[in-house]
Amino acid sequence: MTYAQGAARQSDFKVWREKMVAEQIEARGVKDRGVLEVMRKVERHRFVSPLVAHLAYADTPLPIGEGQTISQPYIVALMTELAQLKSTDRVLEIGTGSGYQAAILAELAKEVYTIDILPDLAKQATMLLKELGYKNIQVKSGDGYLGWPEFAPFDAIIVTCAPKDVPPALIEQLAEGGRLVIPVGDRYQELKLFTKTAGKIAQKRIIPVVFVPMRRGR
Ligand code: SAH
Repeated sequence: MTYAQGAARQSDFKVWREKMVAEQIEARGVKDRGVLEVMRKVERHRFVSPLVAHLAYADTPLPIGEGQTISQPYIVALMTELAQLKSTDRVLEIGTGSGYQAAILAELAKEVYTIDILPDLAKQATMLLKELGYKNIQVKSGDGYLGWPEFAPFDAIIVTCAPKDVPPALIEQLAEGGRLVIPVGDRYQELKLFTKTAGKIAQKRIIPVVFVPMRRGR
């Protein structure tokens, strides 16, 4: 916060956050009370550049540097609801970006592991999440296509970049009863929910979406 962003500004942000949840998230059908609560709590404006902080609660994705974006608030809430988190869950996120989705997950689950292929974004998110006091999030830089085998299995996996096909490692690293929420596709992408029950995978198509592509390498 600079001197120009005083107490009045903080209360503006809170009002905008309430409005965001009511008009963009509840109005579109997200019902999970825990999800709505954390979307009201986590200060999304801390995860974007101060230059666009006034847009942090708008119904849109925003640039976070390196050509990447923080997802639209509704999509973050929807994906979190689909993950059906419990306070004992261990969660993997692919695509740390700003760290906002990771913070939302960390409010609801026990442990969050998050990977970004761009080292600078991973570094920035690590610092911000530490500054905000999150102790249950581990960030690393690497290729999320491979998951994070050292900490598998995961009760939920959320992917915030779109691979052309579902990475087999992510299905493998899903715990029994686990949920994988992932945008899949090339130009046309669809958000999908995979669940693992008695070792069998079921999939459900949710909605068409637009995410940055999942890159490979590193
Ligand atoms: N969840 C983020 C938004 C992520 S944008 C947030 O809340 O801000 C998508 C991110 O996926 C980008 O930061 C991009 O660098 C990352 N990404 C792309 N391909 C990846 C890969 N193979 N493994 C890990 N991260 C990847």
